[in-house]
Amino acid sequence: MSTELHSIGVVGCGLMGSGIVEVCVRSGLSVVVREVSQPALHAGLGRLRTSLDKGLERGKLTADAHAAALDRVRGTTELADLADCDWVIEAAVEDLAVKQATFRELDGLVGPETVLSSNTSSISITKIAAATSRADRVIGTHFFNPVPVMPLLELVRGLQTSDATYQAACALGERLGKTLVLCQKDAPGFIVNRLFIPYGLDAIRALDDGVATIEDFDTAMKLGMSHPMGPFTLMDFVGLDTMLFIADAMYDETKDPRYAAPPRLRQMVAAGWLGRKSGRGFYAYGR
Ligand code: NAD
Repeated sequence: MSTELHSIGVVGCGLMGSGIVEVCVRSGLSVVVREVSQPALHAGLGRLRTSLDKGLERGKLTADAHAAALDRVRGTTELADLADCDWVIEAAVEDLAVKQATFRELDGLVGPETVLSSNTSSISITKIAAATSRADRVIGTHFFNPVPVMPLLELVRGLQTSDATYQAACALGERLGKTLVLCQKDAPGFIVNRLFIPYGLDAIRALDDGVATIEDFDTAMKLGMSHPMGPFTLMDFVGLDTMLFIADAMYDETKDPRYAAPPRLRQMVAAGWLGRKSGRGFYAYGR
């Protein structure tokens, strides 16, 4: 398999997709990014431009590099425009049916050597790959938010992912300047969420048990364990809806009580207390 990449397709230009486009164009790759509608494309490309503008203002990008990065992006609403891409990264909504439909369509469009990768946080790579005729060339490329800032890229091998695909994903990840970790099995939660989700849920259970205040749990883990953020601050940052969604997916797959969401989390999500993004989670944020 050739590791010479020129053109990357990105499906979805939402929060993660726009960040993935940014790291690709900043590392010299051309990108064709597909959104579901013109307004969504406009918003996604606007988010990309704002982030590149910030890079320019902060001296992380020269004016030439800023202009070149924007020149390398082409937006479209047609999946067919990704047909000539050497690699396609899918960052669409977290829904198995949507991801399988996208992969099925891409499988019929792109060249036989093209690798299809998913940014899914919680869906089995093997299940996504099953929608294609190239399960050996499907892999998980799990980026973290915000993509241009977070150094980690978690690679996830599906049951049928080939060594060559894994090697090619390593080459891509290194080109994007990421530090790589390999989840060697298609295990629920992969590496990060496998540890983070029960940790967060345990913090909520301990809060429910009246062990300490939210502030003291956070201070304890910051100052006692050198974590940059305590669990409640971190869950507010990630989004409580995202926490719940991933916990439910992991619980559905395993029936392991460690992943069973406490009622408090479900109630907070029902109430619209989603964390930083909604102005209220475990903490209140001035809006
Ligand atoms: P988002 O809501 O910002 O973007 C979702 C994207 O999906 C948009 O581009 C939207 O237009 C597209 N979309 C919506 N409905 C669609 C449909 N029916 N068909 C095709 N595309 C559709 O979400 P996001 O946070 O960017 O998440 C995208 C992926 O990245 C998800 O799989 C998510 O689990 C994963 N992820 C998210 C984070 C995070 O912190 N937000 C971190 C790692 C991975």
